[in-house]
Amino acid sequence: MSKIVVVGGGAAGLELVTRLGKSFARGNEHQVVLVEPASHHYWKPRLHEIAAGTFDDELDAVSYLQHAYCNRYQYVQASMNALNRSAKSIEIRNVNGELSTLEYDYLVMAVGAVSNDFKTEGVSEHCLFLDSALQAQQAWDRINPLLRSQGEHRISIVGAGATGVELAAELAKVSGKLARYRQDTKLTITLVEASDRVLPAGPECMSEKVAKALTKLGVQIRTDVRVSRAEQSKLVTENGEIIGADLQLWAAGIKCAPWLAELDGLETNRLNQLKVDATLRTTLDDAIFVLGDSAECPQPDGSFVPPRAQAANQAAGHLASQLKRMLKGKTIKPFVFNDGGMVIAVGHDYAVGSLLNNKLILRGRLVRNLYDTIFRLHQRILFGWGRVTALVLLKRVKGSLNPFYKHNIS
Ligand SMILES: Cc1cc2nc3c(=O)[nH]c(=O)nc-3n(C[C@H](O)[C@H](O)[C@H](O)COP(=O)(O)OP(=O)(O)OC[C@H]3O[C@@H](n4cnc5c(N)ncnc54)[C@H](O)[C@@H]3O)c2cc1C
Repeated sequence: MSKIVVVGGGAAGLELVTRLGKSFARGNEHQVVLVEPASHHYWKPRLHEIAAGTFDDELDAVSYLQHAYCNRYQYVQASMNALNRSAKSIEIRNVNGELSTLEYDYLVMAVGAVSNDFKTEGVSEHCLFLDSALQAQQAWDRINPLLRSQGEHRISIVGAGATGVELAAELAKVSGKLARYRQDTKLTITLVEASDRVLPAGPECMSEKVAKALTKLGVQIRTDVRVSRAEQSKLVTENGEIIGADLQLWAAGIKCAPWLAELDGLETNRLNQLKVDATLRTTLDDAIFVLGDSAECPQPDGSFVPPRAQAANQAAGHLASQLKRMLKGKTIKPFVFNDGGMVIAVGHDYAVGSLLNNKLILRGRLVRNLYDTIFRLHQRILFGWGRVTALVLLKRVKGSLNPFYKHNIS
């Protein structure tokens, strides 16, 4: 019997333990353990909805404890601190701060990434982040009072990638909807981007369509603006301009936590991502695999797998089947990311998508349904189609009965 320890229950890790737990359940052949500090799983591409007060906790949050019980894996609520490769063990810290060790036969690291402040002065003190559900909730706790008080309020968002764009659009939508009930509050959202267009990692024609949709929602877009310092209620740009705001959010770039660069000699890149070969195995240790945003995984064309939800999900499905092969003594195959395109939500009823290697750009309400489908596919792995169908129906019913903005309107 082998013990597989998966660290991090996000888009990649939770899918992996679900698949493995179900597969090994009958024969009690192998033990699957998930190490995750949070009590509930939230699909990261929806964190902006928590920050904008439109997320439905009741329907879309997953309790790890309950999920582990139903899918036959063990859930340890703790965070990993350190690795001892020769002892094949990791050091973990539980919610009470107590340290312990956990042994493994195979270790899978899937701890994700966080925003990259590029060491910009004042950002960690004066900007909010959206890297976890807790941070998204903290952002909402600051945004909610602005929506409830009279006058014009300003929010600056730095970084016009998927996170920044989706957050700006969702906030603009919430503000627009609230204006129906009370006209004395106005939210002005400024999206600041260092490159010359929004969605710099996407195709140019997609950027144009997204920028047009954001402008229509009233979002002020500032491209070619590089922030050199963040201070209390203001951003200072490289050429000395001051962008004032009641609240500042940082959603630019990604990097991995610094402790990954100190994992018992494992190789990392400048973003602290762990280097793996095409089979998702770390370059220096055959018993350790890495998935999702925390991996630098090479592709046949010389590029690396992008840090996206779709890639994390595909890698989890691939590794689940390869680990099963490996445990039967077979060789494992390389992971090749199949890019199904990119869909960006611009509010809850509109999205822009790029498909077929950027040859087809789609936009509109139907494309928004496609965006939701990506999340539903993730849920399908976690719960199966029956429960996903029930969740979709429930959401429709709740949506038709409740306001889009879920909190008390006063
Ligand atoms: C607001 C937002 C919007 C996004 N929108 C999109 C989008 O539209 N399309 C897209 O493709 N991608 C999007 N992304 C990126 C996408 O969410 C990530 O690529 C994806 O979640 C990566 O999956 P992962 O499993 O590697 O990491 P995550 O999903 O981040 O999961 C990592 C898990 O590891 C846990 N963890 C962290 N540290 C430790 C530790 N020390 N010990 C144990 N566990 C730990 C965390 O609690 C978390 O549960 C978005 C990201 C954000 C933040």
